[in-house]
Amino acid sequence: MKVTEHIKKAKGKTLFSFEIIPPKKGKSIQELYNNIDPLMEFNPPFIDVTTSREEHVYVKKQGLLEQKITRMRPGTLGICAALKHKYQTDTIPHVLCGGFTKEETEYLLVDCQYLGIDNVMALRGDTMSHQKYFEATPGGHLYAKELVTQINNLNSGKYLHDVLEVDDRADFCIGVAGYPEKHLEAPSLQTDLKRLKEKVDAGADYVVTQMFFDNQKYFDFVAAAKKTGIHVPILPGIKPFAIHKHLQLLPQVFKIDLPEALIAAVEGCKDNAQVRQVGVEWSIQQSKELQQAGVPGLHYYSMGKSSNIKKIAAALF
Ligand code: FAD
Repeated sequence: MKVTEHIKKAKGKTLFSFEIIPPKKGKSIQELYNNIDPLMEFNPPFIDVTTSREEHVYVKKQGLLEQKITRMRPGTLGICAALKHKYQTDTIPHVLCGGFTKEETEYLLVDCQYLGIDNVMALRGDTMSHQKYFEATPGGHLYAKELVTQINNLNSGKYLHDVLEVDDRADFCIGVAGYPEKHLEAPSLQTDLKRLKEKVDAGADYVVTQMFFDNQKYFDFVAAAKKTGIHVPILPGIKPFAIHKHLQLLPQVFKIDLPEALIAAVEGCKDNAQVRQVGVEWSIQQSKELQQAGVPGLHYYSMGKSSNIKKIAAALF
């Protein structure tokens, strides 16, 4: 079932969902199951599975380090199929521009159709570590909007190279990313919102936000999005603070601001176990306020560990 249908069916009740990261190549899927099992009692209508693009790795060859490019966490679609089968829930693969040609994307979407996967999250993906700016993969897309257009074309029966006989149209519900504190490369929040509107006009059905720790940022973003003409559901993305290093890492990587009260609480912690507890309490407080404001869903970034998400979900759902 589509995310938008889940939202309609909930009739104003806030949905609980989360996103997981595929294991590193060579690791078993069991650890993922062990982390998802405790969250299933909260009936997530869908689970997102991220996609990691290729990265540089170094292998030792005759005493010298040789650089190779590989995807360390493949298996997004396989995991979606496995989770859908095991938990009888909808799963959402993240589909990236970076690292994929349009052709490969089409093959992936066809696989999704055969697997009964109704939703996809369309994203550009991040810049590779050696690049200063995002570069499109040859034969791939430069912006998420172009990927949304490709998926939407498929929904209209339009395949690449104009395959003519189509009697089984795709019908994907398309999610895209939104940034309450603007995307780090965007020159302004208003410009970024204009770009978001372009993704919605191209066919995106809903938005999931980047993490934020101050709810006012989300409320202002939703109001500004509406003013820009964006009327699709905007699901807040919530990340529980988990380690002391997040104080530097999160602002550095995502260019987000942390509230003073959260900084003070984390600085007062003796170890990461205490930081994790602060993170849980902060997320519960954030989530309760968002739930009371009637958000369509709360989407948690689990980063593969579920014990904190379970505590938050238990306080809310
Ligand atoms: P876009 O919408 O293409 O925007 C990227 C930048 O380009 C923005 O600054 C935008 O303002 C600008 N822009 C857009 N169109 C134009 C234009 N026509 N001209 C000039 N500028 C333009 N990354 C992963 O690698 N894997 C994942 O699974 C993943 N999941 C995510 C899930 C969520 C909910 C979120 C919020 C992010 C996720 N990301 C993931 C990170 C995402 O890939 C990065 O934030 C990426 O840098 C931008 O992706 P986007 O889809 O927002 O890009």
